[in-house]
Amino acid sequence: MNFDTYDFNGKKALVRVDFNVPLNDQLEITDDTRMQAAVPTMKKILADGGRLILMSHLGRPKNNEPEFSLRHLVNHLEHLLSTPVKFADNCVGDDALDLTSGMQNGEVVLLENLRYHKEETAGDEFFAGQLAEHADVYVNDAFGTAHRAHASTAIIARFFPHDKLFGKIMEGEITAIDKVLHDSEKPVTAIIGGAKVSSKISIIENLLGRMDHILIGGGMAFTFIKAQGGNVGSSLTEDDKMELALDILKAAKEKGTQIHLPTDAIAADAFNNEANRQTCAIGEIPDGWMGLDIGPDSVEQYKQVIENSKTILWNGPMGVFEMENFAQGTVAVAKKLAEVTQTGTFTLIGGGDSVAAINQFNLADQVSYVSTGGGAMLEYLEGKVLPGIAAVRE
Ligand code: AMP
Repeated sequence: MNFDTYDFNGKKALVRVDFNVPLNDQLEITDDTRMQAAVPTMKKILADGGRLILMSHLGRPKNNEPEFSLRHLVNHLEHLLSTPVKFADNCVGDDALDLTSGMQNGEVVLLENLRYHKEETAGDEFFAGQLAEHADVYVNDAFGTAHRAHASTAIIARFFPHDKLFGKIMEGEITAIDKVLHDSEKPVTAIIGGAKVSSKISIIENLLGRMDHILIGGGMAFTFIKAQGGNVGSSLTEDDKMELALDILKAAKEKGTQIHLPTDAIAADAFNNEANRQTCAIGEIPDGWMGLDIGPDSVEQYKQVIENSKTILWNGPMGVFEMENFAQGTVAVAKKLAEVTQTGTFTLIGGGDSVAAINQFNLADQVSYVSTGGGAMLEYLEGKVLPGIAAVRE
């Protein structure tokens, strides 16, 4: 079922959005990216003449603390949609049902925080059924929670066997990731960085055989280098993962994926932007020094692979990009990705820190797709079935 061609006219559409926005002490929204992202989905339903019922979680309330109320979002939502928004004090129950059953076409109701009921995260079927009573059609547009089997993200879909669909955010995310994993124009390359190899192992394993190239950067590179017998000084390593690192390199060869490790590093004598620095061959980092960025030779080598790829996934920074003196590798990769996007290469940026990096360098609008769902994106890349996706597809 396709969101764009579905006719919402006269239908009560229950949309699971991700309005989990940060609020300051005055309960003002400090970053409305997630609300903005849902506007196209919400506007399409209203433009069709649908009745828009929105549900979301906000934070992690324990005892229905008022600071987690979605009421704080009403004014801003009215501003984004240019239309009044009614608020239901409880997401389920008679009062909420009275409100939604009395809606006219083109009206909007925002339901109170789903997580004021512990049944939400428990994936309770009865609670999901209570939510389902509001509507004729269910739309899931909360990619950020698609990896959770919660009542509103997965269980509820079974109450709409014929009328359940993905909203525009979900469709965009799924299409972008599938384009890299299953439907890529070759050569296809994954750039994987970040602090620890342990958090990326499942992703790398799932990418072996699918990618032509994997470029490794960040702290995780040093576990591979040390496992190969290199001297990495006091760089970040996970010694209990060294054997696994060697297994990955072996499996990559067998599956036809070329893994590239950095050939040099910018080393520092302390974990500090002002520390002394030197460029070292990757396996020759002196004792007491730690690699905090990939070096210029590695940057050139990686830029070459990027230049020759047609599809690219980037997850995880090449170094400690939060410190200016160790951001060069990450900046160079980000700029090169922006450059090749111009000439038709598909570039997907996903996972918290690479998204933070691309935003920090103001290049987010120059790549093909920036994923919004950190944990969900990582689990999808690991090859896991996400409950929020499976429930709508079933
Ligand atoms: P992750 O959350 O695993 O993607 O890791 C991101 C973090 O890894 C960022 O905060 C970086 O500062 C950090 N990082 C990247 N390279 C290194 C490195 N060589 N040594 C220590 N930390 C690093």
